[in-house]
Amino acid sequence: MTIDEGVVKYQSFWTRAPAPHAAAVDELETWRRPLFDAGLIGEYEEHGIGYGNISVRCGEPGQFMISGTQTGHLATTDKSHYAVVTSWNVHGNRVCCVGLSQASSEAMTHAAIYQLDQHIGAIVHVHSADLWRQYLNQLPTTSPDVPYGTPGMANEFRRLYVDTDFRKTQLAVMGGHEDGILSYGRSLEEAATRVLNLMGTAN
Ligand SMILES: [Zn+2]
Repeated sequence: MTIDEGVVKYQSFWTRAPAPHAAAVDELETWRRPLFDAGLIGEYEEHGIGYGNISVRCGEPGQFMISGTQTGHLATTDKSHYAVVTSWNVHGNRVCCVGLSQASSEAMTHAAIYQLDQHIGAIVHVHSADLWRQYLNQLPTTSPDVPYGTPGMANEFRRLYVDTDFRKTQLAVMGGHEDGILSYGRSLEEAATRVLNLMGTAN
C-alpha cells in the first residue's frame, strides 16, 4: 500500500504558540481515547507514521481545534498536541493554524466539511483496513483518483454531500486514501460513536 499519511500538502501558516480554547482539548482527548484503544487512531509501526485525526468546532465561527500532525502514536494527548485552525482557503490550498503542534495534514479536508453545514460540530478520521475493505463503495466513497489532504479531497466531500446519502450516513470511505474512513456529527460523541459502532459490524 502507499502510505503518504502525515505529509502536509497544503501551504501551512503555523503560529507556534499555545492553542486558544484549551477547554476543547479535554473533549478531544476523551473521545480520542476509545478510538486509539480500538486501533482506529495509531501508527503504522513499520513505517513510524501516525494516522487518524479528530476535530471539534471551537472559538470563532468556522474555526476548529484538530489533533496535530504526527500525534497518532500517542496513547494520551494534552494541549500541546492540538492546533486551532483559524482560517483556510481550499482554492488557494492554504491553512492557518495556532498551536504547539502543527495542524493535521488532513486539516483542509476537515475545514471543507465544516463548511458544508453549520450543524456539523465534530469530525473523526480513522484508519482501518478491515472497515475500508468492507465498506468501500457500500458507504459513500470518494474517488479512488483523489489523494488525501488535497483540495480535490475537500471537493470530493462536497460532492458526496450533495450527490449521495453522505448527509444521512454521516460516514464515508476515502477511496483514494487506503484504510481511510471519515465520520461527522453534531458532537464529538456522535462522530466517534458512529465509527465505533461500525467496528461492531466488521467481519
Ligand atoms: Zn488518513
